[in-house]
Amino acid sequence: EAQKETRGFQTEAKQLLHLMIHSLYSNREIFLRELVSNASDAADKLRFAAVKDDSLYEGDSDLQVRISVDSDAKIITISDNGIGMGREDVIENLGTIAKSGTAAFMQNLTGDEKKDAQLIGQFGVGFYSSFIVADKVVVTTRKAGTPTDQGVRWECDGEAEFDIETIERAERGTSIELHLKDDAAEFADDWRLRSIIKKYSDHIAIPVVMQKQAPAEEGEEPPEPEDEVVNTAKALWTRSRSDVSEEEYKEFYKHVSHDFADPLTWSHNRVEGNLDYTSLLYVPAKAPFDLYNREGARGLKLYVQRTFIMDDAEQFLPLYLRFVKGVVDSNDLSLNVSREILQKDPNIDSMRTALTKRVLDMLSKLAKNKPEEYASFWNEFGEVLKEGPAEDFANREKIAKLLRFATTLNNTSTQDQSLDDYIGRMQAGQDKIYYIAAENHNTAKNSPHLEVFRKKGIEVLLLSDRVDEWLMSHLAEFDGKTLQDVGKGELDLGELDTAEDKEAQEKVAEALKPLLERVKTALGDEVAEVRLTHRLTDSPACVVVPEHEMGAQMRRLLESAGQ
Ligand code: ADP
Ligand code: MG
Repeated sequence: EAQKETRGFQTEAKQLLHLMIHSLYSNREIFLRELVSNASDAADKLRFAAVKDDSLYEGDSDLQVRISVDSDAKIITISDNGIGMGREDVIENLGTIAKSGTAAFMQNLTGDEKKDAQLIGQFGVGFYSSFIVADKVVVTTRKAGTPTDQGVRWECDGEAEFDIETIERAERGTSIELHLKDDAAEFADDWRLRSIIKKYSDHIAIPVVMQKQAPAEEGEEPPEPEDEVVNTAKALWTRSRSDVSEEEYKEFYKHVSHDFADPLTWSHNRVEGNLDYTSLLYVPAKAPFDLYNREGARGLKLYVQRTFIMDDAEQFLPLYLRFVKGVVDSNDLSLNVSREILQKDPNIDSMRTALTKRVLDMLSKLAKNKPEEYASFWNEFGEVLKEGPAEDFANREKIAKLLRFATTLNNTSTQDQSLDDYIGRMQAGQDKIYYIAAENHNTAKNSPHLEVFRKKGIEVLLLSDRVDEWLMSHLAEFDGKTLQDVGKGELDLGELDTAEDKEAQEKVAEALKPLLERVKTALGDEVAEVRLTHRLTDSPACVVVPEHEMGAQMRRLLESAGQ
């Protein structure tokens, strides 16, 4: 086995590293948050593994992160006694970016530092943020349960290569030594580090320990430094809502989601009774890159009685709420629970129903109380929410209330009108909600089908997202009113046509009968039917799809999927 070798970074890792160092410069202190977050994850993973194999603790189950600083040498060391890493783990985790959507992410970079910083934040830089402040990083680690001669030393100067070496290491877990850059020397300061920890890592569930040096008494030797726990060190979701500040909720979100940006909103709840669990659910501010990637990570972080069980537990929320991040901590599940068991457990279904309702309620509240933030949510995640009525029949009406549409009211492509808004503006005698679906907003807006509606001042929803026809085929009605595609079938405006309108229509029909016959003969099998229409006021003729056939947009969707 190679004892010491030098390896090149994966190309993407190299690019990301470079970009990050430059674009996150204005917010450098977050490096500590990322490293403490990783240490806490490593403690979670060890606790989980130790449920099955107690010996992994090697006699030390008091999990913590220790931070020390050598102000003269300008070195900060962050150590944990968590799960640790083997040689292959180190190469895999610190030398490559194994995330889905990396390529897509790279394509999105613009070269504009400000924009890119935001993108990088969303992507999550984690461990690499060390290089914002350090020009040399040394990681020493040993995986729990492996022999002491299987330690690993990794060293890198933040350029193209890293060295890796197998070493003797007595302690289990990971130590990260940051050799600070000259311009980052300010971080080699005990007080500064404490305040950064307080600010970003207070919610971390394991103790973050630093040594405290009491001043020497007059004429005596200084006393031995003492350990001091710098953070609150209690799982945030176990605290009561009134004890947790906004800032703490936001920082906790960044820890669980690996996102750099603040969340848009959240909901923290304890449920007692039949089932006993706590949930803390967040709606991110920005959509991730892999929102439409079926394999993309989604789901909640699952804990059982405060013990971490798994990331990305998908069973607790439906697919159309896949953007939600957070934690669920159950007191009923077994510590040995697996994904397979989760899929079969009927209790999980009840939790899923309840958590789904929580999210929908949280969104309703946001829509009602903070319309601007809701608009921004809709912009990011509206298309995903539109999958809801098809997937979740029981909550159809609730989801429908959350939908937003562009309409002929203001003719812009902004989706900002709810079905309730629309109903509030319905004409006397109108009993349907009218919509038109087209492949883009302009085609919808300029459709000849809208002429008669414009003339009569009846509002029509303008649909042009890919999922819209799919949505409408599962949302036949809302609030007792049928949703009617104005491009389909015979147009019956019901009471919206006056008696005079009807009389005039009948007269015209009688007069044009011979013309229709001739057109029908001329077109032959090309058409199913030739009909006189009252839906046009300016155009002479248009093609319509029969009531029960696929809409044009749906047909295109299936064609593009190769059907
Ligand atoms: P993320 O935390 O989002 O997975 P990071 O870049 O922060 O990404 O870390 C990359 C990976 O490196 C982690 O997923 C983990 O497997 C490993 N890692 C980082 N720090 C530690 C640590 N202190 N102990 C064990 N593994 C670690
Ligand atoms: Mg991390």
